[in-house]
Amino acid sequence: MDFILGKYILHYTKDALKALKFVIIATVIIIAIIALKYKPVYAVTISGKTIGYVENKERLEKKIDKFLNHTEGPIAFIEATINPEYNLILASRTTKTVDEQIYAKVKDTAVTTYKTYAITVNGEQKAKVDTQSQAEEIVNKVKAGVQQEVNLDLAITEVFETNYSVSSTDEALSTLNIIKDEKIAAYEKAKAEEAARKAEEARKKAEEEAAKARAKAGTVNTSINVSYGNEPIQIAFIQPVSGTISSRFGVRSSIRSSVHTGLDIATPKGTPIKAAASGVVTFGAMKGAYGNLIVVQHSDSIQTYYAHCNSIAVSPGQAVEQGDIIGYVGTTGNSTGPHLHLEIRINGVAQNPQNYLYQ
Ligand SMILES: [Zn+2]
Repeated sequence: MDFILGKYILHYTKDALKALKFVIIATVIIIAIIALKYKPVYAVTISGKTIGYVENKERLEKKIDKFLNHTEGPIAFIEATINPEYNLILASRTTKTVDEQIYAKVKDTAVTTYKTYAITVNGEQKAKVDTQSQAEEIVNKVKAGVQQEVNLDLAITEVFETNYSVSSTDEALSTLNIIKDEKIAAYEKAKAEEAARKAEEARKKAEEEAAKARAKAGTVNTSINVSYGNEPIQIAFIQPVSGTISSRFGVRSSIRSSVHTGLDIATPKGTPIKAAASGVVTFGAMKGAYGNLIVVQHSDSIQTYYAHCNSIAVSPGQAVEQGDIIGYVGTTGNSTGPHLHLEIRINGVAQNPQNYLYQ
């Protein structure tokens, strides 16, 4: 029994080895056939579409990487827009590989971003150059000799863009110098306008002052308020004319309905009238019953009036010294003969002249 079983096993093992040998040989033959006919390649797909086969994926990827990382000069970075995917397959030995074409495709569709330096005026790009130092040199040249008041508002900013375009230093300078000249001109114009505006303002103010002075000079207080007091006046008057007192202050007479506001000094027609004290002429014209009237302001509150003049030798606004001839005696207005009607007024109120002169 044991013998039979052992024989059987031996026989079986022999058969198995024979079969195994056959399988191995067949496999080798198949592999050899495959190897002769096929080769391993990478199918390249871009966006899901197979566009070709490459033999040496590592070399191609390395080459693409080298291209994408090639940043020199103004190049800031390069980005691939297509991203090849690789799948290892067995393809016929006659399959053409397209490593170079795929590299070219990646390269041609890549987007290059350049870094340049823009010189801005008021935040607006006016020129672009390659380097920061070049931009700084240009800005300094443009700024040189320009008054600080002229706000050029120059700045340098980094620009990243896919279109590479820069100016030469000379081109940038000529562009910016035109803007600079415009800014200087605008500044000068604004300055001149401001000066003109101020001058106009000053002129208007002066005119207003003059108008005020004229208005003041053109008005005269002819009220008949009289004071019988004897207010001290810090002015030493001189007699405007010499002559005979023909009517005193405060009296009433047949030729006037009201109290006499001044002192009448009779003297020949044409006698020069002297300013009783220095001051400014504030009135010099015909004024009703006063006839030709001259008023001289001596201080804020004190005035002298010279009435019935034949003629007036001064004009409003004119400064006079004590003793200056301001007019000539006459009999204009409400008058019966040549005389000087002299008034001294304090704050518009007529005082008795004889408290101060012709005493
Ligand atoms: Zn009088």
